[in-house]
Amino acid sequence: AAKKLGQIHRKVARQRTDHAHKSALGLLRAAEVIAVEDLRIANMTKSPAVKPDPEQAGGFLPNGSAAKAGLNKSILDAGWGVFLAILTSKAESAGRDVIAVDPRNTSRTCPQCGHVSGANRTTQAGFVCLTCGYAANADVVAASNIKRAGLVLRDARAA
Ligand SMILES: [Zn+2]
Repeated sequence: AAKKLGQIHRKVARQRTDHAHKSALGLLRAAEVIAVEDLRIANMTKSPAVKPDPEQAGGFLPNGSAAKAGLNKSILDAGWGVFLAILTSKAESAGRDVIAVDPRNTSRTCPQCGHVSGANRTTQAGFVCLTCGYAANADVVAASNIKRAGLVLRDARAA
């Protein structure tokens, strides 16, 4: 069973790497410049600190560990770090830029008017600006903010 499990893990890892290579090539064919969130995966995958409950000896307050564990798992499953390494290496060979931008507020900033608020996020997938009413898919909002930030950084370097 252990041998079989090892084979399955290696197969999944191979498929993931293969998928990362194909995705990276697709992006490099489609775009001159690629901007990504600098997620500092090492920090994100650390477990949240335990908070002792001051009201109750020996008790603990919820620390969002369960929700964070789900996010960590999805990042690790997607092999984001491996993907970025592959993408960056291919981009270098192709003479293209991969620009890592500060991930703060990318999903909370309105691309139309610049208003920043966590309340702009109506659901995990939904974004509605409280100031100007701009509405879009939250991932699309984050992507357009990352792109704009990336282009600003690129222009600043070129200047
Ligand atoms: Zn707005």
